[in-house]
Amino acid sequence: MKHAEDLDVAGRTVMVRADLNVPLDAGAITDDGRIRASVPTIRDLLTRGAAVIVCAHLGRPEGDGYAARAAGGPSLRPVADRLAELLGQPVTLATDVAGESARVIAATMAAGEVAVLENVRFEPAETSKDDEVRGELAGRLAALADVYVGDGFGAMHRKHASVYDTPLLLPHAAGQLVLAEVAVLRQLTTSPARPYVVVLGGAKVSDKLAVIGNLVGSAGPHPTTPRSASSGPAAPPKADRLLIAGGMAYTFLAAQGHQTGDSILQAEQIPHVTTALADAGRAGVEVVLPVDHVVADRFASGAEPEVTRGPDIPDGKMGLDIGPATRELFAAKLADAKTVFWNGPPGVFEFPAFAAGTLAVAEAISHVTGLTVVGGGDSAAAVRHLELPADAFTHISTGGGASLEYLEGRDLPGLAALGDEA
Ligand code: ADP
Ligand code: MG
Repeated sequence: MKHAEDLDVAGRTVMVRADLNVPLDAGAITDDGRIRASVPTIRDLLTRGAAVIVCAHLGRPEGDGYAARAAGGPSLRPVADRLAELLGQPVTLATDVAGESARVIAATMAAGEVAVLENVRFEPAETSKDDEVRGELAGRLAALADVYVGDGFGAMHRKHASVYDTPLLLPHAAGQLVLAEVAVLRQLTTSPARPYVVVLGGAKVSDKLAVIGNLVGSAGPHPTTPRSASSGPAAPPKADRLLIAGGMAYTFLAAQGHQTGDSILQAEQIPHVTTALADAGRAGVEVVLPVDHVVADRFASGAEPEVTRGPDIPDGKMGLDIGPATRELFAAKLADAKTVFWNGPPGVFEFPAFAAGTLAVAEAISHVTGLTVVGGGDSAAAVRHLELPADAFTHISTGGGASLEYLEGRDLPGLAALGDEA
């Protein structure tokens, strides 16, 4: 992969595809981690005399056509404003993605200036499955710039017009964020120091079954496109231990015959989970499930927390966090780790009464000496709010789905378009 730092950009207009997909609450940014992570590449290009056009998506605009989506939002306005604060210079926001406003801005920008295009997902073509439809949008995007820099790691697993098709039309390179993310993930997928312990949480087991399959040494329940021979191992290394928490743990516990009460449960996934447990047993991968829970009678911030005495959850109660015994058990299982990957919060950390499990796991990982990687949008946002020391983890990834697909050994379209050889 070519490095953006090696491109000659003086006097040229560079399109940076960034991942600025931050969580919003009533239009306000609740975690600006992804914007901060995008700054180094943009700043480097500006310093070297480029004009920078940033292309990014935000949320899930709804509606059939461009007009409906643009009217419904979300607009990148708050993101462009935050980027301006972080860069310490004005940022112009185009009123469209690759239309008249974008063209005028692109044609009149000077070196050292920054513009942001409106939410690229206002263009239905961005996510189209039809190559020609995406190609038309990619053509309009490419016409705005001389050079393309891919730095939106969190979108690299999407075969979208701005991620996959546009770089093919321009001289292209990878930005600093993408290079850093790939370097860390490559360490996880090529002979990680052992014990290699993986902590998985989050809401749904179905999101993470493919990666679980890889980590326990099975082929995985979903067909995966193995990364090409030249680009690293098709079968990523197994974990030594897999600690399972969060909503997905209840499907595992149900598969073992435990009561899960009203907890979120994906009953249709029980057969897959059973297979994964059997594969883990055969491969010698230790799977550690919660031994107690913090439960409540409703999914609400104000719900009364109650600790169970064991892994079973009575009817009328739902598990919202791992219990104290599980927090200790997980800490013990992490204590001797040399490599850790953590994706998905072990509890509903958004509710303070159910955040202790997420805090305990974060702390236990922060004491590990070795490579520690946090992946996943919600997990990363959660740990940034915990006020742990800046060096608590080796790396906090900006990509949730993208890092999981990398760990599954899949080719990421965005990396392939940038000429990834690893
Ligand atoms: P990430 O973005 O880090 O990959 P996910 O999107 O998979 O994580 O899951 C994050 C969500 O999982 C959080 O919003 C959290 O509240 C939720 N979650 C964690 N534990 C539970 C639980 N026991 N019941 C319901 N939801 C849970
Ligand atoms: Mg998430």
